[in-house]
Amino acid sequence: MDELRNRPCLAGCSYCEQALDAHRGLKLFFGFDSYRSYGGEPLQENAVKAAIANKSLLAIFPTGGGKSITFQVPALMSGENVKGLTVVISPLQSLMKDQVDNLEKAGITEAVTINGLLDPIERAKSFERVEDGSASILYISPESLRSRSIEHILLGRKIVRFVIDEAHCFSAWGQDFRVDYLYIGDFIKAIREKKNLAEDIPVSCFTATAKQKVIEDIQAYFKDKLSIDLEVFSSNATRTNLTYKVIQKTNQEEKYNTLRNLIEQKVCPTIVYVSRTRRAYELAERLTKDGYLAKPYHGKMDKKEKSENQDAFIDGEVAIMVATSAFGMGVDKKDVGMVIHYEISDSLENYIQEAGRAGRDEQITADCYILYCEDDLDKHFALLNQTKINIKEIQQIWKAIKDITRFRMTVSQSALEIAKKAGWDESIGEIEMRVKLQFLRWKSRVIFDGARICQGFLRTASFAEMHRKLLKE
Ligand SMILES: [Zn+2]
Repeated sequence: MDELRNRPCLAGCSYCEQALDAHRGLKLFFGFDSYRSYGGEPLQENAVKAAIANKSLLAIFPTGGGKSITFQVPALMSGENVKGLTVVISPLQSLMKDQVDNLEKAGITEAVTINGLLDPIERAKSFERVEDGSASILYISPESLRSRSIEHILLGRKIVRFVIDEAHCFSAWGQDFRVDYLYIGDFIKAIREKKNLAEDIPVSCFTATAKQKVIEDIQAYFKDKLSIDLEVFSSNATRTNLTYKVIQKTNQEEKYNTLRNLIEQKVCPTIVYVSRTRRAYELAERLTKDGYLAKPYHGKMDKKEKSENQDAFIDGEVAIMVATSAFGMGVDKKDVGMVIHYEISDSLENYIQEAGRAGRDEQITADCYILYCEDDLDKHFALLNQTKINIKEIQQIWKAIKDITRFRMTVSQSALEIAKKAGWDESIGEIEMRVKLQFLRWKSRVIFDGARICQGFLRTASFAEMHRKLLKE
């Protein structure tokens, strides 16, 4: 059935032109005439076509870049053609229901979710719909893959594809590494073996992170685990309609005046980014007092105020949004003409994302400004310095780990416990933060690199050698 109905053959074949055509699928399920392109590149369409051709792929989509449709169209087509099931693995449980609801609003009822937030009746209903074949898209969390009942229902269906959302969670280089992700490959392998399949089950990975290290990690993971090569779909389109400019000022007052000037010079929807929630309020208030229509937005705001302010900006009632980096996720406002960083982003990746919210409409020219004073930078470096650990501290930690593991093969200790054992001064106020930010990050590297290094070194080399190697790594 799959060979007959789910494999494109020759150009000009009338079956394929009907059942396996990317454009027809888009029109049929979502009513759209064309796919979105990025800087003239048909990224969405190319990724859909690759999925229809049963290829495995890694797609790097900008946030809010129409990612869902890219896997939903081929999934719904396979559902129709061969009653196939597409399993979508996502760490964001609360968003799964939104996705299913959004599809229902579009008249598509083939998607279900099974996750920890469902009540037993909803859960039973989802199970039933996967089992009876009426569901063709299943959203689950990576943790659910450990459940026997999930494995059981999946073995009963023809799985046409595993879609893995937020695929940067595979990478120890990403900020959001998740141990549960490392089980996904084993799970897919087990399904394949238990069903005695001759061919791979194709995989689609999606991420908004374009970091080279992260991409390599994801590719290497699937190559190692499943011998699958992922074809990469990414937009390297340069945003030609954006202009970047950095303006240095000697004090905060001058910075504010420059902000006012910029707003006066170009009347357009504007996002002003700040780094702290309190600052979002202060600055929005000050601008309002000075006669500009501005609203604040930050992650800790209550939901109602958040969506009111966001809607006011999107609908154009308010021209200026003073926001922290929390603003922008899933916001698709095309006519933002200016993004002004009143305070500096905490990383280059975040800066690119935030500045990139200007000029979504490629017809307008948009400006991206960074306003800064020398002491803004000091603030950043102060934060960084607080979280740095020195060689002496690394030595202390290693000694502590050695002591703890002297008589045991495995131990389970929190970072803080190890830090205490290492004699770190508990009275230091920021120890919690240092441990959390730096040491935890370091520890997660150690799990990988350390395990690898230690394997080779523990038996043969001295502590000093191991230590040197660790520092070098
Ligand atoms: Zn054909």
